[in-house]
Amino acid sequence: MNFKYIIVGAGIAGLVMAERISNELNENVLVIEKRDHIGGNCYDCYNDDKILIHKYGPHIFHTNYKETWDYLSKFTEWNYYQHRVLTYIDGNYIPMPITTETINKLYNMNLSNDQMEKFLKDQSLDIEEIKNSEDVVLSKAGKEIYEKFFKNYTKKQWDLYPNELDKSVISRIPIRYNKDTRYFTDKYQGMPKCGYTKMCYNMLNSNIHVLLNTDYKDVINDLNYEMLIYTGQVDYYFNYKYGHLKYRSLKFDFETLDSESCQDAAVVNYPNDYDFTRITEFKKLTGQKSDKTTIVREYPTWNGEPYYPIPTDECSEQYNKYKGECDKLKNVIFLGRLAEYKYCNMDVVVKRALDVFKDGVSDR
Ligand code: FAD
Ligand code: UDP
Repeated sequence: MNFKYIIVGAGIAGLVMAERISNELNENVLVIEKRDHIGGNCYDCYNDDKILIHKYGPHIFHTNYKETWDYLSKFTEWNYYQHRVLTYIDGNYIPMPITTETINKLYNMNLSNDQMEKFLKDQSLDIEEIKNSEDVVLSKAGKEIYEKFFKNYTKKQWDLYPNELDKSVISRIPIRYNKDTRYFTDKYQGMPKCGYTKMCYNMLNSNIHVLLNTDYKDVINDLNYEMLIYTGQVDYYFNYKYGHLKYRSLKFDFETLDSESCQDAAVVNYPNDYDFTRITEFKKLTGQKSDKTTIVREYPTWNGEPYYPIPTDECSEQYNKYKGECDKLKNVIFLGRLAEYKYCNMDVVVKRALDVFKDGVSDR
């Protein structure tokens, strides 16, 4: 069969490309997806208790890219949700990230924002060059905050200590000298009103043909195409010629409780207690009403779906060998979290797909 464009993967990266190519270039596109559904890791669905859950872990949309927000808003309306997280430290539930509220609650104080800034500066260590994720926290908040909030959570999540991880990992979590307890401060934040899967369905049209339950390697030799857009694992594409890239995975333990509410925030982190990192209560993300509630506990593991590329120098070096191979292929575009081996949020992936489409696809 002939398709000018073939896309591997029906995650958000693949679907943005499919939508752009079909609508802007008026071309047919074949999307090949090995799972039995579209949406990739953003996929959500109703469980047996009729609660909307995120099968691959909690997804909250937030961005400062207006173009990305406007683009997705063509396919969904939004609940204007602002995410807040609590973290369980020394038997108390404390607002995360680190703000004046966090420090006041942790130490039972009543500091003003200026006093809190001074308090943290007094604790922080002088570090000449910030080389890793441990340095990021020590230089801004000192050893005690590092040990209570970050060290053990990170070890659980990555099986690595923060000093073994790139500084970008913990830099995702801000330290603020004010009382803004939101997890994200992006200009645009929300949850798709009818869920991510519905948003993804709305991106499809009659020019987009989706083949589910199919690994692309099982069919690709029977197809003719001019361009392949690949959003699967880059090491798999090259038959692991430079070895298997490492990914951190998660085991999700879902539970439905016979009560209306389970915890005081959509997400509660457990840095120091238990083997799971966090508990998410879905209704508090989606705004759904029910007399039951579903939660999920996340247990990090090395076995299972490849969720998190590992941000270390060693893994980057190995990926760069694959990247060299990618750059030699003129009719294959490598896009998304797995193909570019990058720990990035949905908005970054959508932006990248929109940019790649604008920069290249139509001219190739
Ligand atoms: P994916 O969603 O992984 O899609 C790739 C698709 O390709 C998959 O469907 C896969 O099955 C398919 N595929 C792979 N190999 C093959 C093959 N050989 N043949 C056919 N199909 C194949 N981002 C946020 O912005 N906010 C959040 O709150 C957030 N929370 C997250 C929580 C967790 C636990 C995780 C793991 C990620 C989170 N993210 C979040 C990131 C978000 O999931 C990603 O940015 C986004 O899903 C990446 O989209 P993608 O299309 O690149 O990859
Ligand atoms: N982190 C931490 N303690 C926390 C929350 C996060 O140490 O309470 C660190 C941890 O290394 C984590 C990283 O910060 O992987 C990024 O956190 P985020 O909440 O963005 O993780 P994600 O939602 O991507 O899993």
